[in-house]
Amino acid sequence: MPSSNFKQLKVAIVGGGIGGLSAAVALRRAGHLVDIYERRDFDVEVGASISCAANGTQWLREWEVDIPDMKPVVLMNLVMREWETGKVLNDYKLDKYEEEWGNVYNMFHRQDMHLTLFKTATATEGKGTPCKVFINHICEKVDAEAGIVTFKNGVTVSADLIIGADGIRSVVRHELGIVPDSKSAPQTCYRCNVLTEDVKKFGLVDYSSPSYRLAANTGEEYKERTDVLNIIKSSCHRAPEARWSHFYCFMPTELTSHHEEGFVFKEVPVTDILQGRYDTLDPDCVALLKHSIERMPWRLYVHQPYSHWFKGKACVMGDAAHGMLPHQSQGACQAIEDAAALGIIFSDKYDFASDANITRGLELYQTIRKPRATRVQSASVKATENLNERIGFTSMTAPDAELAAAEGKLTINEMNGYKMHDHIEAEVAKLHGA
Ligand SMILES: Cc1cc2nc3c(=O)[nH]c(=O)nc-3n(C[C@H](O)[C@H](O)[C@H](O)COP(=O)(O)OP(=O)(O)OC[C@H]3O[C@@H](n4cnc5c(N)ncnc54)[C@H](O)[C@@H]3O)c2cc1C
Repeated sequence: MPSSNFKQLKVAIVGGGIGGLSAAVALRRAGHLVDIYERRDFDVEVGASISCAANGTQWLREWEVDIPDMKPVVLMNLVMREWETGKVLNDYKLDKYEEEWGNVYNMFHRQDMHLTLFKTATATEGKGTPCKVFINHICEKVDAEAGIVTFKNGVTVSADLIIGADGIRSVVRHELGIVPDSKSAPQTCYRCNVLTEDVKKFGLVDYSSPSYRLAANTGEEYKERTDVLNIIKSSCHRAPEARWSHFYCFMPTELTSHHEEGFVFKEVPVTDILQGRYDTLDPDCVALLKHSIERMPWRLYVHQPYSHWFKGKACVMGDAAHGMLPHQSQGACQAIEDAAALGIIFSDKYDFASDANITRGLELYQTIRKPRATRVQSASVKATENLNERIGFTSMTAPDAELAAAEGKLTINEMNGYKMHDHIEAEVAKLHGA
């Protein structure tokens, strides 16, 4: 039976990235009035492939998001290859993935995913009240107890619930008194795309299969040290268009000429990628990289867990709460899980959506989400040092999966077998002394 205390909340979300838009969809569907405040214009939205494993896809489906509109490629294999020759070292098949976990593993291009989430949050169709979006609103201050957000343009808004989804350099986090502890990772990443039409035109090895592919190459000389060199390649644009496939090229920061922070920089020449140890790389892979476009450097950081995620009527989520290295491909999925938790906790099933109980609801959100996200965060550091720590490679077969779990490795079972609705119900029962 719905809670009799349920109040429609006025929710202010700071940041309209994948996390903020997911929270908007979840909270709109839970019956709240949601405003999204984004510092930029969405036209400059950039990025490359985003992995959305079953634990993320599950929520997109529950929220009735039009997944085909995101033009996904369904991942069917994780292939590990030798650096110099491209020889397959390991081929982890995901053909039973959907059968086992109830959802597929989607690869999206970030722009496609962002656009569909934006449409879902703001559409007049669908459950709940369409969310409003305010661009060019840079958050400057948050009064978490009073529920007030102030923006650089002079606008001040009050809300029952404030969500900081403002990424790894979060202002909301700072305003909640959370002190970030992060340091530059020893690795830098270059991201680039290869157009399918160029693969055909120049007779390159065709990696743009409609159904799958993620390849990781380990430097022969550094077999045990994937922190030194590795490339992740993924198709993230569905056939028949399949316009491009995407490469993440990791290398030691000291071998690069890019030491700036952040995501968006000037495109770099291909020689910046094909430097240092890349001169020994599989020639087929080199040929693809030589024909790449949109080459961007991406500085990476190791983030330690934060002391807390909420204060008064405000909380953080997504990268603002748990920035992580990309090696478990869980950044977006963990942000989606945060959004799902907020949507469930503040639904009419429970009594947290009421003036008196919002802070208690945020405390429960932290209880539910912080341990799990922290575990993925630390596993993403381990996978930097050893690619065999990556979910998937840790659990190749059932006995190995058990072994991996016994060794404390993150397994597919732990990620995809998790039941958030049950977890929240059990924690609420504890709160009620049941
Ligand atoms: C431009 C960009 C490109 C990315 N590319 C990739 C990629 O190629 N592969 C990958 O795996 N991950 C990528 N990521 C990260 C990935 O999207 C996130 O890890 C994940 O989706 C979690 O998202 P988030 O919403 O928590 O944070 P983000 O995606 O970082 O979103 C934060 C949002 O908050 C806005 N914001 C920041 N500060 C303020 C402020 N003070 N006031 C108002 N708004 C603010 C930002 O403009 C942004 O839209 C990218 C992120 C960004 C921002």
